Amino acid sequence: MKCPSCGYQTDGRKSKCPACRTVVRKDLLDKELAKEQQAKAHAARTSSVSMQPRTTQTQPVPVAEANMFAIIGFIMAFLGFSFIGLILCIVGLIKAKKVYGGSGYGFALAGLIINIVMTVFMAIFIGFYIWFIIRMSMW
Ligand SMILES: [Zn+2]
Repeated sequence: MKCPSCGYQTDGRKSKCPACRTVVRKDLLDKELAKEQQAKAHAARTSSVSMQPRTTQTQPVPVAEANMFAIIGFIMAFLGFSFIGLILCIVGLIKAKKVYGGSGYGFALAGLIINIVMTVFMAIFIGFYIWFIIRMSMW
């Protein structure tokens, strides 16, 4: 088979002329292109399969932020600011699971109990003090 462009004698099994790259047999070229596309599609499919484990990799676990409400609230109990500590511990307790992923939950709970006890003691003490003042003024 002769190339229509340059007259080069092709073997008839090639879709393009080896000398000038002119399309000699369009039917073969179409088949070649179809094969190429199939190969590309297959490559894309296999690569997407092999890519999958990488795309589904576990996301980095966010570092748990310190639950400052719980910690400060806990400390407040020992500093005598039980009422402030009580509020901080309640906030810390609520936020522990929602915001801090459970961090500081123990601190908030312990702080809450200590602050309640301290507040009760403080209330008894103040009540006793007021009762004592009233009693003294009645003399
Ligand atoms: Zn040619």
